[in-house]
Amino acid sequence: MKKEYLLTPGPTPLPPQVSLAMAKPIIHHRTPQFQEILKEASRGLKWAFQTANDVFIISSSGTGAMEAAVINLLSCGDTALVVQGGKFGERWTEIAKAYGICPEIINVEWGKAVSPAEISKRLKSNPQIKAVFTTLCETSTGVDNDIQAIAAVVKESSAVLVVDAISGLGAVDLKTDAWGVDVVVAGSQKGFMLPPGLGFICLSSRAWKLVEASKSGRYYLDLRKAKKALDKNDTPFTSSITLIIALNEALKIMQQDGLENIFQRHRIMADATRAAMQALGLELFAPLAASDGVTAAKVPVGIDGEKLVKTMRDTYGVTIAGGQGELKGKVFRIAHMGFITESDIIMGLSCLEKVLTKMGYKFTLGAGIRAAEEVFLK
Ligand SMILES: *Cc1c(COP(=O)(O)O)cnc(C)c1O
Repeated sequence: MKKEYLLTPGPTPLPPQVSLAMAKPIIHHRTPQFQEILKEASRGLKWAFQTANDVFIISSSGTGAMEAAVINLLSCGDTALVVQGGKFGERWTEIAKAYGICPEIINVEWGKAVSPAEISKRLKSNPQIKAVFTTLCETSTGVDNDIQAIAAVVKESSAVLVVDAISGLGAVDLKTDAWGVDVVVAGSQKGFMLPPGLGFICLSSRAWKLVEASKSGRYYLDLRKAKKALDKNDTPFTSSITLIIALNEALKIMQQDGLENIFQRHRIMADATRAAMQALGLELFAPLAASDGVTAAKVPVGIDGEKLVKTMRDTYGVTIAGGQGELKGKVFRIAHMGFITESDIIMGLSCLEKVLTKMGYKFTLGAGIRAAEEVFLK
């Protein structure tokens, strides 16, 4: 018998209310009943995105919303500045290139946050840059970038700021309107406690000017269509009815909690996880900009990182994430985003300790759990 625990940075576990909402018989989307749900979900999304602008729901994983941002804002031949400090920063570059957009890249050492001063410098030296693409939580390295400071420097230029908040939103603070972030992209399967399948995107009026001017070919991801539909409480194509019903349930849970409580819960779980790594003698991968959504730690010398993740999952049912790209086998990542509680963290740490012990790593058994509990008791 095995019980499963999901501690990955997407998908994340589902609250029972969300799962149950999806088990109900399907309804039709062009009905007053569904329109009411869409209206409520849209209101909830504005709350979660901390914006007064519309948040569009796209039937795609998060990357679909990233692609929507690129093609709706820019045209072939345009220049964009891309912050590349991990796998998801690289994705912005790949999407831009696919559409003939010229990416100017800021290469950030993996595990570090981007320097807002560097962004400012690059914007000043190249006035052609129409948009800056960056990431809130760079899930591959466990880094949170300082979006408030980045927004402040981008505002001094004519470029718009686009933030991939796919794993950060609903875990760490992102004050879209107050900080002046033009475009925020998110997805359903991380902080929002939903299955994969929905992408979200909101745009400022400044960004809309680019949408109107873009010459990129667009059809399914045309945000002008999405806007026209949303103005009538509709989506341009068949809505992801079941997922939107689930979204509405998840947003109700989040709103009952309140944004501040949500962020604080994530902060405490991150603090506990980081304290546990330290107590186990494990090095954090991003000690200076560690995300409150996911903790990346270096695999200790002599331990097979991929085997560690696999044993935790296959023998004990605890799924954490390994390293991506150049970090494959070198780090493991414990996510603490979405429907995750202190008890889940303890469970994950306990499993980690057992497997590390079996693999021959030396430390005081229970030290990680103790360190986490001490944080929780504070
Ligand atoms: C998960 C993730 C994505 C990719 O989203 P998909 O839903 O897999 O398309 C993009 N960016 C970040 C920061 C992510 O964490």
